[in-house]
Amino acid sequence: MMDCVFCKIINKEIPAKVIYEDEEVIAINDINPQAPIHLLLIPKKHIASIMEINKDNAEILKQITKVAQHLARESSIDKKGFRLVVNTGEEGGQTVNHLHFHLLGGRFMTWPPG
Ligand code: 5GP
Ligand code: ZN
Repeated sequence: MMDCVFCKIINKEIPAKVIYEDEEVIAINDINPQAPIHLLLIPKKHIASIMEINKDNAEILKQITKVAQHLARESSIDKKGFRLVVNTGEEGGQTVNHLHFHLLGGRFMTWPPG
């Protein structure tokens, strides 16, 4: 995807602080963190949103879950708790149309979000 900022980060065309990477997933620090820990877990394949998940690509959700658990433990937020968020579509607050999971932690989370 030529104009996708996350595809550019995955292809190392623009820099990012990479926290984790494997064949399917990359995790980076969010450029505008909303919590002391704010990571973005991103499938390397361009999938526009959670609405594009289907039986052929759903395996990525398992891998992202594994990476989220690993990074939560590594950041020592696994016991205190954290939030894993997928904003979807305009009203859902999605601003980058490449599926990503926000992993937020290190502070008390309020509910409902704004
Ligand atoms: P969304 O609003 O789509 O749920 O989340 C997009 C997130 O990507 C935002 O939290 C925003 O700060 C982050 N973001 C946008 N552009 C960049 C970038 O170039 N680098 C990094 N590291 N994060 C970005
Ligand atoms: Zn993309």
